Amino acid sequence: MKKADYYEILGVSRDASADEIKKAYRKRAVQYHPDKNPGDKEAEEKFKEASEAYEVLKDVDKRAAYDRYGHAAFEGGGARGGGGGGFHDPFDIFREVFGGGGGGGGGIFEEFFGGGGGGGPQRGADLRYDLELSLEEAATGVEKEISYRRPVACGACNGSGAEPGSKTTVCRTCGGQGQVTTSRGFFSIRQVCPECEGAGRRVEKVCRECRGEGRTVTTSNIKLRIPAGVDDGSKLRSGGNGEVGSKGGPSGDLYVVIHVKPHEVFERRGDDLYCEVPIKFTLAALGGNIEVRTLTGKANLKIPAGTQSGTVFRLRKKGMPNLRGGHFGDQMVRIHVEVPTSLSGEQRRILEEFALASGDAEEPAGPAGKGFFGKARKLFE
Ligand SMILES: [Zn+2]
Ligand SMILES: [Zn+2]
Repeated sequence: MKKADYYEILGVSRDASADEIKKAYRKRAVQYHPDKNPGDKEAEEKFKEASEAYEVLKDVDKRAAYDRYGHAAFEGGGARGGGGGGFHDPFDIFREVFGGGGGGGGGIFEEFFGGGGGGGPQRGADLRYDLELSLEEAATGVEKEISYRRPVACGACNGSGAEPGSKTTVCRTCGGQGQVTTSRGFFSIRQVCPECEGAGRRVEKVCRECRGEGRTVTTSNIKLRIPAGVDDGSKLRSGGNGEVGSKGGPSGDLYVVIHVKPHEVFERRGDDLYCEVPIKFTLAALGGNIEVRTLTGKANLKIPAGTQSGTVFRLRKKGMPNLRGGHFGDQMVRIHVEVPTSLSGEQRRILEEFALASGDAEEPAGPAGKGFFGKARKLFE
C-alpha cells in the first residue's frame, strides 16, 4: 500500500513552519484520539498517521531527509534518527505535545478537551551556545560536534516525575484543572492550584532520581551543520535541542551564536574580503603579474605599469559565499608599494642614473656635496 505524504496527512504546505506543523498535529491528534473515538479503527489509524508525520516533520534533520528521499529515508534501517526501531508510540508523541505523564488516566486528557488550561506542562527554555569558527570554516561551511549541558527528561521516570511503578492521580483539589477558584466577598479569584502547583495531577511517590522535576541535567552531544557564509553574530536554531519541557512539555530550542575569529590576512565586510598586498616599487613602475592569496588558494593578479600605493583591485567572486545562497562576494586587494630601505652600491648607481634621466635630480635631497646630488649640483654651478 502506498504511504500517504506526511505534509498531506497534516494538511500543511511543504514550507510550513515548525509552529504550523505543531498546530496541525494538535488539531488532528485531538480530532482522532481513540479516547474521543472509541472503537473507530479509521480514527485510530489517522491518529497514528498524524503522530508519525509529526514525529518526522518536527525534527529538522528527519524533515530534511524526508524532503529528499520521501518515506524511503526511514525504511530498512537507513539514516534515521532517534532510538532505533522506527517510530515512537503515538501516545508518547501525544503526551510530549500535550503534556501529562500518567499513562492511560483520563484526567490529563480532559484538561485539554475541557479547556481548563491548567498550568501544568511547560515548554523548556531555549538555550544558547557560542561557537567560534575560523573565517575559512565560515566560508566553506562545516560540520561541528558540540557538547553542552542541558536538562533532559529524567530517564528513571520518563519525565513524569513519578517514581516508576507508582500511580499518578488527578489532583482532587482542582479536579485536574490546575487552577482553583476562591470567593472573596463579591469577587471570585482564579489561582494556581496550591496542591498540585498547576500540574493538575498528583504523583503518589516522587521520582527519586529527579525529585519529581521530571528532568535531569546531562551532557548532550549534537552534530551541527554550519552553512557556508555565516557571519560573526549569525544565529542558528537547532529545534528541540534546548531545555526539555517540564512535566511533559515540549523542548525548547538551541540557538547557536557564531563567532568568527579575526583572520591574519582578510577582513570581511559583508560578503567582500579585504586584504593588503605589498609589491616592490619596481613592479609597481614596470607592471607585471603577482600571485595573491585567496581564502581557498591563490589567484593571479595583473599589476599595470604605474600602479600607485593604495590602488585597490577587485578579484571577482573570491570573497565569501552569500549565506542565502547563489553568489559570492569579491576580494578587494589594496596595493602597498614598498620602497627599498637599503641599497647596494650598484643599485644606488642605477637609481641615480634613473633619477637623472627623469629630471628628478633638480630636487635637492641628502647632504650636499655627497653622492650624486652633490655632484649634480656642481655641474650647474
Ligand atoms: Zn525522574
Ligand atoms: Zn490541583
